[in-house]
Amino acid sequence: MDFQPSDDHQAIRLAVRDVCARFPGQYWRELEADGEYPAEFVRVMTELGWLATLIPEEYGGGGRGVTEAGIILEEIHQSGGHAGACHAQMYTMGTLLRHGTEEQKKRYLPEIAAGRLRLQAFGVTEPDAGSDTTKIMTKAVRNGDHYVINGQKVFTSRIAYSDLMLLLARTSPATEAARKTDGLSVFLVDLREAGPSVAWRRIPVMSAHHTYQVFIDNLRVPAENLIGGEGRGFSCILDGMNAERVLVASEALGDGRFLVERAVAYASNREVFGSPIGANQGVQFPLAQAHAQLEAASLMRFHAADLFDRGLPCGAEANTAKLLASQASWAAANAAMTAFGGNGFAVEFDVERKFREAKLLEIVPVSNNLVLSYLGHRVLGLPRSY
Ligand SMILES: Cc1cc2nc3c(=O)[nH]c(=O)nc-3n(C[C@H](O)[C@H](O)[C@H](O)COP(=O)(O)OP(=O)(O)OC[C@H]3O[C@@H](n4cnc5c(N)ncnc54)[C@H](O)[C@@H]3O)c2cc1C
Repeated sequence: MDFQPSDDHQAIRLAVRDVCARFPGQYWRELEADGEYPAEFVRVMTELGWLATLIPEEYGGGGRGVTEAGIILEEIHQSGGHAGACHAQMYTMGTLLRHGTEEQKKRYLPEIAAGRLRLQAFGVTEPDAGSDTTKIMTKAVRNGDHYVINGQKVFTSRIAYSDLMLLLARTSPATEAARKTDGLSVFLVDLREAGPSVAWRRIPVMSAHHTYQVFIDNLRVPAENLIGGEGRGFSCILDGMNAERVLVASEALGDGRFLVERAVAYASNREVFGSPIGANQGVQFPLAQAHAQLEAASLMRFHAADLFDRGLPCGAEANTAKLLASQASWAAANAAMTAFGGNGFAVEFDVERKFREAKLLEIVPVSNNLVLSYLGHRVLGLPRSY
């Protein structure tokens, strides 16, 4: 068991840190104020190949694992940036890599790796089916060599900035399924060919996230774009979801570290009653507590990532990492707000921005209540609430 970061991991950190230094707080603040997408940041990250990290080398990608992808996302967030504009290419990659056919991989992966195609949208959540994915109503009906899809999605992030969307739909009614997770299928939708069949409307949210309500009306998708076989969609996305939980944990760790670093610097310099506020236990201890939580969550994240990268079961570890990292980040956010006092509310310090962003990761892509339910019934064997 070696807890030391490898030279390779350290090199990734330094390289990503270097890129992110070109996108300081002011860049993110201005974009958020204008409601704009960080196009330049995404362009640079794509050109340097960081967003293709998980794509195998034979398809032109970086050929690395979730461990390294997590380090990249953590660094983006630790620098004060936000990977929300482009992380889906990593979040969703597990589904395509593990369940896509060789033909699908050959067709799409080299184009994605080269930055000519963007796979940044993932449509699962619906207005009447949030945490209970099995209740989705979007329906795909086979018609010759196509499927015809109708339905509605909500909170489909980045669809306006993506060429492809992974879409979950029902191919047989829940009433006919042996298990409620049966009968769902995943499609790789080429949005460039969808025309008016796919329309979207932006949902204004409290952090810099480009997320949309999506309306799907008689969308024709070639049958060859079905991933993992009809009716097997739930298990295909589940595989990817463990990777997603590890990656979200990494982003939360980055946010938490950013907040602690900023607060420590501020609390060391700001003098009230003749001494630095950081000397007071009311300011110092919450920061020390958050630091300890971040360190522990980071170890859990690396453990889960290592299991995932070795192809071993990691549901319990990935969920635990997501829970602990998002809680640690939220603890850091509160500790930082306390340390900054009134200045915590001033936009120019970036603390209130990260405070809002840190809260999101307790809720998405799966709320911590549902993570606790998973641990309660799947790991501890307690009775299920649903
Ligand atoms: C900014 C943003 C971006 C998003 N991007 C995407 C995206 O790209 N693609 C996508 O598909 N989705 C996306 N989502 C949706 C996100 O994944 C869901 O919001 C999340 O999974 C929670 O579902 P819900 O909002 O429907 O909450 P609900 O399922 O309605 O739950 C509401 C609350 O009740 C609690 N709850 C529900 N059931 C239980 C239970 N059995 N036990 C205990 N507590 C329970 C939950 O924990 C939650 O706190 C995004 C959301 C946001 C806010």
